[in-house]
Amino acid sequence: PTPTLAIVGRPNVGKSTLVNRIIGRREAVVQDIPGVTRDRVSYDALWAGRKFTVVDTGGWEPDAQGLAGEVALQAERAMKTTDAVLVVVDASVGATHTDEAIAKVLRRSKVPVILVANKVDDERTLADAAALWNLGLGEPFPVSALHGRGSGDLLDAIMAAM
Ligand code: GDP
Ligand code: MG
Repeated sequence: PTPTLAIVGRPNVGKSTLVNRIIGRREAVVQDIPGVTRDRVSYDALWAGRKFTVVDTGGWEPDAQGLAGEVALQAERAMKTTDAVLVVVDASVGATHTDEAIAKVLRRSKVPVILVANKVDDERTLADAAALWNLGLGEPFPVSALHGRGSGDLLDAIMAAM
């Protein structure tokens, strides 16, 4: 069976944009409106000659009550059903209450968790990425899913973890 990688994180951090970057195709729907991704959509991916499956998550209502709880539940399910979890945070915003709720769940994960500091579009925002060490999930990987910055290094780290 091919290894599976789940992408989790609160709405609008760039999960679907990152999925498209990882799979090298524009299949995941990217929207400015949060909550657009339907629940758990899978995509085939290939990197360094190895196949894996990427699972994009989402599916909550944009302004549902208890967003933190809902997203944390998705993280919980991801760490129990996939071989690795990529947790995406918007570094330009910093860690929110919801991000902290997700991190709290993922700190108990038995499968590898990789922390992505997304929206690091240029050097100036690298410090924002470093601030995410505070989530207690190890080293934040600075990337710009939109422009592709850092995505090669991230993919190498993903393959090493899986
Ligand atoms: P999702 O809800 O987590 O799946 O987020 P999306 O992938 O739909 O992206 C939400 C918004 O963030 C869209 O407007 C994207 O274009 C934007 N976005 C995603 N990645 C980046 C990035 O690396 N830099 C910037 N500046 N914007 C990004
Ligand atoms: Mg999405």
